[in-house]
Amino acid sequence: MSRGRRAPETGRLIPPEPSVVDLHTHTGRSDGLLAPAELVAAAAGAGVRTLAVTDHDTLAGYRELVAPGAVPLPAGLQVLAGVEINAVARHLDLPDGELHVVGLGVDPTAEAFEAALAGQRGERRLRFERMLQRLRAAGLGVDAQLAGLNVEEGDALGRPTLARALVAAGFATSVQDAFARFVGRGGPGYAPREGLGPVAAIHAIRAAGGLPVLAHFSAAPSRRALLQELMDAGLAGIEVHHRSFDAATVSAMGAVAEDLGLLPSGGTDYHGDGETYAEAIAETWVPSRIATGVMAALGAGIAP
Ligand SMILES: [Zn+2]
Ligand SMILES: [Zn+2]
Repeated sequence: MSRGRRAPETGRLIPPEPSVVDLHTHTGRSDGLLAPAELVAAAAGAGVRTLAVTDHDTLAGYRELVAPGAVPLPAGLQVLAGVEINAVARHLDLPDGELHVVGLGVDPTAEAFEAALAGQRGERRLRFERMLQRLRAAGLGVDAQLAGLNVEEGDALGRPTLARALVAAGFATSVQDAFARFVGRGGPGYAPREGLGPVAAIHAIRAAGGLPVLAHFSAAPSRRALLQELMDAGLAGIEVHHRSFDAATVSAMGAVAEDLGLLPSGGTDYHGDGETYAEAIAETWVPSRIATGVMAALGAGIAP
């Protein structure tokens, strides 16, 4: 997830034409709000033709969409299996101590990958519980509100879920406010993440036949040595386009991708807070050639 989901007030990005590609989205199977079927319907309704469902640490949303007996996918919409792994990178000098790696086109039947994701979900549940305890200890109990959030056993819950509960309890005015004061790094409800590091995440995605893509890493222009290291580990692409990027950032990210030979990717990173899907995609520019490039890389077997 990314906290900067809303476009900045200045430099708001208006796509030159409606975006028909979105390679970064979340459903309620991780920390998004829409059911998988609601997300695909909203995306198709907004004109999207290629959509990747990239829930944190789980392929459950994608599986639900393609399960026997599921409502057929909207005509004309191609859906890619994906994940987002929030890799722990405390050894690197980064604001959040994390690098987020999206895996596009992973094989949903790959057993070793599912085992790795199950491990991640286990760490996620422990962290969630630790953060709940810290919130309780700080007088910010949200158990009643969580019960009303319609979460299912096994969902890959995260900080946005806690932030929504804090809003519902009246402790915060918005998800962003809850992050700033309670569940962001250093806040009274914060607990550090445990789990895969970026290199292990990249290896796991590659082994499952997917393309590892670094998500919303706007520091990329000044972190080329780090990018090179990740490329040596198998990083295939980087998000040049993201809901939170203004026009100048998109341009700087595009230059880095081109210089280093990284596949450009991008999407809304839609979670569902405070705006409809149509509103999010209307302010995210993802050119159609982004999907062409990703599909060609997957088809060409660039991933093993
Ligand atoms: Zn995300
Ligand atoms: Zn993220």
